[in-house]
Amino acid sequence: MASYLGHLSFSSALGAAYGSVAVFAWNLDWGPVFLGAGLTTIGGLLPDLDSESGVPVRELFSLAAVVGPVLLLHRLVDMGLSMEEILVVLGGAYLLIRYGLSRIFKKITVHRGIFHSIPAMLIAGLAVFHLYRSPNLGLRIYLALGTMLGFLSHLILDELCSVGFSGLKLRLNKYAGSALKFFSPSWPVNVVTYTLLIALAWLAIQETGDLNLENANFPDLIMNVPSRTK
Ligand SMILES: [Zn+2]
Repeated sequence: MASYLGHLSFSSALGAAYGSVAVFAWNLDWGPVFLGAGLTTIGGLLPDLDSESGVPVRELFSLAAVVGPVLLLHRLVDMGLSMEEILVVLGGAYLLIRYGLSRIFKKITVHRGIFHSIPAMLIAGLAVFHLYRSPNLGLRIYLALGTMLGFLSHLILDELCSVGFSGLKLRLNKYAGSALKFFSPSWPVNVVTYTLLIALAWLAIQETGDLNLENANFPDLIMNVPSRTK
C-alpha cells in the first residue's frame, strides 16, 4: 500500500496534467482548471478515508469537510438562500462531516474494504457530479471524471505497491491485491454500495437524458452545450 505522501504526490502530478489538458486542448479558464486539478488530487486521497487512524485521515476529513460543502454552492444559490443562510448551511455541513461523519466512518468501515473498489470510484465521481450543480453540464462531467481519475490512480498505486514497510522489515502487505475490486466479501455492503451506485447513475441519466449528447464531443460540451434550462 502506498503511503499518504506517495498518493498525494502522484495524484497532484496527475491533477496538474488533467488541468493542463483542459488549458491546452479546450482553452478552459483558470477557475475550472484549478478546480479539476484539485478534485483529481483529492480523488487520489479519498479511498483512504477508511483508514483506521493517523494524522492523514484527520486531515483528509478536514479537507472533505471543506470541499464537500463548497461544491454545494451552486445548489444553495439556486435554492434562493441568502448569503447568511448559505454560510450557516456551509458551516453546519462542515461540522457534520468533520465531526459526525468521521466518527461514523471509523465505526463502519474497514481499511481496504469497499472504499477501495471500482464501484466506490464511480460513486465518488457521481457524487461530485450531483453536488456540483453548475449550469455547465460539461464542467460537471469534467470535474467528475477528474475525481474518478485520481481515485483510480489511488487504487492502481495501492495494487502495485502491495509490498509495505513494517518497521525496518519489508513484508508483503496483507491487503495485497484488494484495491481494484468490484465486490466486498460482505453481501450487505455490496447491496448498499450497488443500490447507491445505481440510484446516483439513474439520477445522472435523468438529468442529462433530455440533452442531445449524441453528436456533441467532449470539449464542445464544456464550451457550448452545457446550459440546461431549468
Ligand atoms: Zn489506499
